[in-house]
Amino acid sequence: MFGKVLIANRGEIALRIQRACREMGIRTVVVYSEADAQAKYVKLADESVCIGPAPSPQSYLNMAAIISAAEVTDAEAIHPGYGFLSENADFAERVEKSGFVFIGPKADSIRLMGDKVSAKQAMVKAGVPTVPGSPDALPDDPKEVVRIAREVRYPVIIKASGGGGGRGMRVVHTEAALINAVNLTRSEAQAAFGNPTVYMEKFLEQPRHIEIQVLADSHRNAVWLSDRDCSMQRRHQKIIEEAPAPGIARRLVERIGERCADACRKIGYRGAGTFEFLFEGGSFYFIEMNTRVQVEHPVTEMITGIDIIQEQIRVASGERLSFRQRDIVLRGHAIECRINAEDPFTFVPSPGRITAYHPAGGPGVRVDSHAYANYFVPPNYDSMIGKLITHGGDRAQALARMRIALSETVIEGIKTNLPLHRQLVDDTNFIAGGTSIHYLENKLAALKNA
Ligand code: ADP
Repeated sequence: MFGKVLIANRGEIALRIQRACREMGIRTVVVYSEADAQAKYVKLADESVCIGPAPSPQSYLNMAAIISAAEVTDAEAIHPGYGFLSENADFAERVEKSGFVFIGPKADSIRLMGDKVSAKQAMVKAGVPTVPGSPDALPDDPKEVVRIAREVRYPVIIKASGGGGGRGMRVVHTEAALINAVNLTRSEAQAAFGNPTVYMEKFLEQPRHIEIQVLADSHRNAVWLSDRDCSMQRRHQKIIEEAPAPGIARRLVERIGERCADACRKIGYRGAGTFEFLFEGGSFYFIEMNTRVQVEHPVTEMITGIDIIQEQIRVASGERLSFRQRDIVLRGHAIECRINAEDPFTFVPSPGRITAYHPAGGPGVRVDSHAYANYFVPPNYDSMIGKLITHGGDRAQALARMRIALSETVIEGIKTNLPLHRQLVDDTNFIAGGTSIHYLENKLAALKNA
């Protein structure tokens, strides 16, 4: 096992990784930008290295600075967290070439999954169902594109192969609008991702977002750790997640989970990962794979009792998974609310100083946050300041505990989305479970018009 791990991230996930390491007796190095110099987790680390000024291109995205921080501190491995360089195959490669272990999959796997056309093709080959659409990148010939769209049937969605973060997508309802939409998406994709390749999928009208967490070691053992429902989204950003997904027959989930674990074995995947699906009409359709730990991993940890970050570290060090599929026992239900520093209804970010901070507590409550009273939320990064997670014997209990926890939580000095969460946990359709990915936006639009 590693003696020292460098954490190449910030905020709640830097603290989460630090806690996992400390529990395992691993010393930690935290890298930080000038904007994060006062953060508590920076002081808690065994060592810390300032890697640059606040803007992330000069700090958290600065590969050379991170690798030299690992060199000067004699760290053995680098955990990238999520976001920033976590899905950057070149970074993974540079880390390993510099003699450190990248806590994540091999660069080849990141590259394969980072290109959505090749990812989909790999899934088709591995027997994972995908959204019907063009089997390949769209050709240049407009006549061919029109033919493919007729076959897929409208509405269709044009997506950038190199896209991410919910960008580089366009829905097309009629043939008249098709070619213009393809051309626009191509030029946007070129500008945003440096790659003009686009592909086509059937646009699903009322899907849910259901994902499968996997863990694999470098000895071709792979397991899947239940499912999560992340359908409560705004602009493709998840805000509430839960595990397991309510109202889906377990045998359907088991079948797709097995396919995912099998796909990991087939592609030689190592580490934690997530297969994301749209779920509609009783069927799962793969959309993409995330080759890193996700924000919502705690809900899976709560129902499986497995520490996903610690498992990532163990398999990166070459250890075998210490459990098999049949050892995984699901207990109860867990829900996570992402707490963002933003206006709850306009979503305008609200950085600044937190003047009062009282986190919730009690049975089944977990708070993953780096915030505290007098903490200054810098304006330079993502607005998420923490996650409130509750666990219960069943969904009703997890939800009741979330309602109480939200009512206990006090964060003053900045705006947060707590008021929105308090409304959502009382929403009859959310309480019933199984709302689609469009539910929140429709609800927000209705609130605005009321
Ligand atoms: P990104 O990498 O940008 O997150 P995804 O492929 O994961 O892109 O898609 C993001 C979101 O876009 C999905 O969660 C869903 O809301 C919507 N979406 C993507 N593909 C489709 C589709 N074929 N039909 C309907 N909605 C889709």
